[in-house]
Amino acid sequence: MTTVAAAPEQEDPELAAFRAEVRAWLDANAEKRRPDANEFKRRFTATTVSDDDERKHLERARSWQRKLFDAGFSGITVPNEYGGRGGTAAQQRVFQQEVARYEVDTGIFSVGLGMVVPTILAHGTQEQKRRFIPPLLNGDELWCQLFSEPGAGSDLAGLTTRAERDGDEWIVNGQKVWNSFAHVADWGILITRTNWDVPKHSGITYFLVDMSTTGIEARPLRQITGVAHFNETFLTDVRIPHENVLGEVNGGWGVAQSTLMNERALIGGGGSGIGFRDYADLARHYGRTEDPVVRQRLASAYTRFQIMRWLGERARAAAKAGKPLGPESSVMKLAISQHVADNGDLALAIEGPEAMLYQSDAFEDGFWQQQFLGQWSIRIGGGTEQVQRNILGERVLGLPSEPRPDKTDPFRNVPKNA
Ligand SMILES: Cc1cc2nc3c(=O)[nH]c(=O)nc-3n(C[C@H](O)[C@H](O)[C@H](O)COP(=O)(O)OP(=O)(O)OC[C@H]3O[C@@H](n4cnc5c(N)ncnc54)[C@H](O)[C@@H]3O)c2cc1C
Repeated sequence: MTTVAAAPEQEDPELAAFRAEVRAWLDANAEKRRPDANEFKRRFTATTVSDDDERKHLERARSWQRKLFDAGFSGITVPNEYGGRGGTAAQQRVFQQEVARYEVDTGIFSVGLGMVVPTILAHGTQEQKRRFIPPLLNGDELWCQLFSEPGAGSDLAGLTTRAERDGDEWIVNGQKVWNSFAHVADWGILITRTNWDVPKHSGITYFLVDMSTTGIEARPLRQITGVAHFNETFLTDVRIPHENVLGEVNGGWGVAQSTLMNERALIGGGGSGIGFRDYADLARHYGRTEDPVVRQRLASAYTRFQIMRWLGERARAAAKAGKPLGPESSVMKLAISQHVADNGDLALAIEGPEAMLYQSDAFEDGFWQQQFLGQWSIRIGGGTEQVQRNILGERVLGLPSEPRPDKTDPFRNVPKNA
């Protein structure tokens, strides 16, 4: 089912040895993804998930994360002193290539591993790194992201959730939205307004918040696919100790940028796990491989899959050369968004009139319909396509930005959404 990048023919001997170690460990500890990939497909097809299913999924993900940690495969690039392996980005990539062939799922930990760890490593104090990173790597503590608000999504710096200092604590009031896994998370990364008298980017503070704190209520929201994986989260007089500020008070926008760049790279580098061969198989199943229009579209899909692969290589080469993530993460995010959208259209075009069927009436229990419907989570989450284009226009092409008085006026005077 998945397209897994093969090991390069002449891999560096140390990396080849690491690959062999990973393969042996995975063979002993995980099940290979079956060629017919039914398990994999079911996960992407579910339209309802009961509380019991969710609890079991969480337990499975936690126990797999613990196994990875004990074997030294969680936080491969994280320094040893914080519970990681102290390894290289190349080793991390090898592990990802190998694990893709097994039936495991730690997606629920992606916010923590892909966004929280690099942000705490970049901005945290020694105490924060020691306190928060090990239990995140070993699966004991699940994290969510409390950034977006009903009036602040693309314009995230326009957020109005308020934090006020009270001795050694901060009191937070406001509402967040679209918070993936907030209803089951143990900790959250939270950005709030702490100064209303300076321009909007200069009055934000970043917190690490215990989700069991009195005053936090996460209410699940149902998505177009039928699953409810994200939430609206209400914060009422939530008390957070001052020691849980990450970075400087009012310096939270810079900290949030670390999280957002890693988020874009995470989404851009993720993909859905479906390879070109799956679309070719679908065309074979429907007897469309001789149809010239379908052939043309398959050829274009093949080209896109190759481009995605090379974009991934380019990002990895930049990482290897020690270059910080920049607008490349927007290129990746935009490219994967378009790729997923085109693939969704292609699958339903191949199915033809049968594409109108759904769930158990449809081929493969509606797997391809779910893929189609799921495309908007990637196209919107982590910054919409339009916003990525704005970033690229301004930062890469050097185009003039729109007049933005809200960037310089005190936030208190800026007209607000609703
Ligand atoms: C699956 C999923 C998971 C998510 N998980 C989380 C999470 O865990 N935590 C979290 O905090 N948030 C999360 N989000 C929220 C996500 O980051 C926001 O949805 C996203 O930033 C867009 O914000 P918005 O929904 O408020 O849309 P808006 O900002 O209101 O945008 C509406 C439309 O206007 C367009 N637009 C807005 N501004 C501009 C502009 N300047 N130029 C051109 N067009 C513009 C947008 O492109 C969009 O089409 C998630 C979203 C999704 C879909």
